[in-house]
Amino acid sequence: MASLGATVLVVEDEPELAGALERSLIAHGYQVLSTGSGQEALELFARAHPDLVLLDLLLPDLSGLEVCRRIRSVSSTPIIVLSVKNSEHDKVEALDLGADDYVAKPFGIAEVLARIRVALRRMERQDRHSLEERLRIGPLVVDLGSRRVLVNGREVALTPTEYELLRIFVMHRGKLLTRQMLLQMLWGASSHDRMHSLHVYVAQLRQKIEPRPGEPRLILTIPGVGYRFSDEVEAAGEFDSRQS
Ligand code: CA
Repeated sequence: MASLGATVLVVEDEPELAGALERSLIAHGYQVLSTGSGQEALELFARAHPDLVLLDLLLPDLSGLEVCRRIRSVSSTPIIVLSVKNSEHDKVEALDLGADDYVAKPFGIAEVLARIRVALRRMERQDRHSLEERLRIGPLVVDLGSRRVLVNGREVALTPTEYELLRIFVMHRGKLLTRQMLLQMLWGASSHDRMHSLHVYVAQLRQKIEPRPGEPRLILTIPGVGYRFSDEVEAAGEFDSRQS
């Protein structure tokens, strides 16, 4: 298991929850640092360089959003936010600030462990692929050098904006991208009022790269938040056999 021995910083001020997370993480082979304070979390982060941060948004001193912002300004270490139910706004703001994912409270430990594995795997792949120009995700191949895109071995013609959107998705695969982040990355300062355009480009891209555009397996919609590009599609054969 590649993530074995990874260090997780748990930032959670509810002692029972923090304790349960710590015990489960240790039982699954992780090293754990834990604090209930946002300020101490930043100090621990700077000192210990954890591989991943589990971050509660409601802390007694600094807000979790501020902790997220400060960590992201110096590091790309995965951050998974623990958000209270009905705090949709904070959750989306945390993602906009660069958090990688969220788990809504109350949550099952198994769900948290699964999200941690996904985030760590994505980080490892980014490290490994940072020098490679060809990305393969299930039936899809994106050649970042030549800007060619293949689906099941057949070349697909994309417009410049469709290609840019796909490039953003595959570079951040497995990570939750809010609509605001996608707008910013696609159009920067001129992204104002282009939400509808984003939906149109996502639909067009699905038509071109999804074997079944009506049942997306690559570009997944996360209701109320944005999109997640799958990084769990491994078997191209499964796609082939599903095509009629
Ligand atoms: Ca709390």
